Amino acid sequence: MNEQFARRKLAETCKRIYDRNLTVSAGGNMSLRLSDSEFVITPTGRNKGSIGPDEMVLMNMKGKVLSDGRPSVEKGFHIALLTANPDTASVIHCHPLYCTALAVRGENIRSALTPEGIILLGNVPMVGYFTPGSKKLTDAVAEHSSSNAMLLERHGAITQGRSLEEAFNRMEELEFQARLQAMVGDARELPASEIKKLQRM
Ligand SMILES: [Zn+2]
Repeated sequence: MNEQFARRKLAETCKRIYDRNLTVSAGGNMSLRLSDSEFVITPTGRNKGSIGPDEMVLMNMKGKVLSDGRPSVEKGFHIALLTANPDTASVIHCHPLYCTALAVRGENIRSALTPEGIILLGNVPMVGYFTPGSKKLTDAVAEHSSSNAMLLERHGAITQGRSLEEAFNRMEELEFQARLQAMVGDARELPASEIKKLQRM
């Protein structure tokens, strides 16, 4: 993927995430793969509603910064997921309110309440709490690298996808499922036979 195109797409998606209330202030970070060895990532400490394409930071998978700007402090888990999954083009981390409420309570997302939850998200693990930006958090996220989506205890959520749009759709769906769960409480999940059928789709 062309670097300028990737910078523009990432800036558009930041604005979308912010406008959809999927994160507030400078919370969250996003990356988009250019090749096997390089990706662009959001800069540290900037409000997600107003980052321009020029502010995105070019890095390689070894953690070296190749452009102006300072990358997100969470670059470690972006590199871990992009490296573990050659099919992953994009990683999105943010702090959607309902996801974060569950993560603060240490309560799992019940993604088998609706078909979309199963198809788009699958099983959503809870990554234990570690200091943001720490190697321990990166290692804990890496342990769940095969998951499409995960919650971070007392922190927020991560999704990944084969395109920026797929990672975004998963984040939007994850927050929808968390809100749904807040409304329907302990409603029964879909029957096991239907879950199996949906998992094959
Ligand atoms: Zn965060």
